[in-house]
Amino acid sequence: MADMMKIAIWHGPEDVRIEERPIPEIDDDSVLIKTRVSLTCGTDVKTFHRGHPSVKPGGAFGHEVAGDIVKAGRNVKKFKVGDRIVPHNTAACGKCFYCKSGRNDGSCEDKARIGGGHGEYVVVPGRIVELNTFAIPEDVSYKAAALTEPFSCAVYGADMTRTSYNDTVVILGAGPIGLMIAMLMRMKGARVIHADFSATRLEVSRSLGIDLTLDLTGVDDPVKALRGLTPEGRGADATIDATGQPAAWEQCIDIVRKGGFVNLFGGCKPGTKITVDTRRMHYDGLTIAGFFHTTPRHVKMANDLINAGKIPVDAFVTGEFPFARLEDAIRAHSSQKGIKSAIIYE
Ligand SMILES: [Zn+2]
Ligand SMILES: [Zn+2]
Repeated sequence: MADMMKIAIWHGPEDVRIEERPIPEIDDDSVLIKTRVSLTCGTDVKTFHRGHPSVKPGGAFGHEVAGDIVKAGRNVKKFKVGDRIVPHNTAACGKCFYCKSGRNDGSCEDKARIGGGHGEYVVVPGRIVELNTFAIPEDVSYKAAALTEPFSCAVYGADMTRTSYNDTVVILGAGPIGLMIAMLMRMKGARVIHADFSATRLEVSRSLGIDLTLDLTGVDDPVKALRGLTPEGRGADATIDATGQPAAWEQCIDIVRKGGFVNLFGGCKPGTKITVDTRRMHYDGLTIAGFFHTTPRHVKMANDLINAGKIPVDAFVTGEFPFARLEDAIRAHSSQKGIKSAIIYE
């Protein structure tokens, strides 16, 4: 095996270079994969343009990968060299206060992580190998398998949204996660109203079978317009934010009916605040909840859905780029040309 590999390194805003680095060593519990596919993600777009707390200048980034095991530590029993696998990018520790109390999502205080997925080789740490890594069945592509990470977040967001059959759910935001959540809520039996400012993204939403979409471009009062689409105009049974915009968070709270459930799933910029009408919160008996990332249970659910062929992969992965054109792929994602792109490695 060669000693050096190519990997994408973030040097600063809009400065990503593909560089040669030594292929990392693994310990006895880890595996090394040769990457076959990595996917672009909204987090990559944020990292590319302005950086991310988890990426230091000179560091690697990217976290949605699938590939072949080329080295396995001696303690690894679940997999062997040659296996096609998809690792999730993190694994909760199972030991911290939050994991033990059942909140083993993004709240975990000691998550294991993979260190940079846009590279020819990626180390999967032992805890991820044990908890959140899956063999890829023969009839499932690397590209489909690599959707496990984003879908695991969407499955978590959708699963936590309390609804009954035929409930009306308003979802704000039709980016990759918003589209996935919309599809999953429909699978749960909800009547979904999906709103966004992008006509092309809403077209994808309709192709996924979403009942009703609303293009908010030029709409003066989105709350009024969206409430108007709910039964008797009483408001949605549940609302989900998948935009990470404070204004949309406030709209989610204003669009829900009395006793409704608000899932603020899109993460806003640090330091942002929203205003909540206390009358709505108290007298209208709202439940306002936040969820972040995913749990091992939801990672497994997402992987099962993919393997069962229940996810229309081509609706979510709309572009393909060779690794050398990673920057073009991220820019395409950023400018909303298509949904996500697959980076293909030789
Ligand atoms: Zn992602
Ligand atoms: Zn933990």
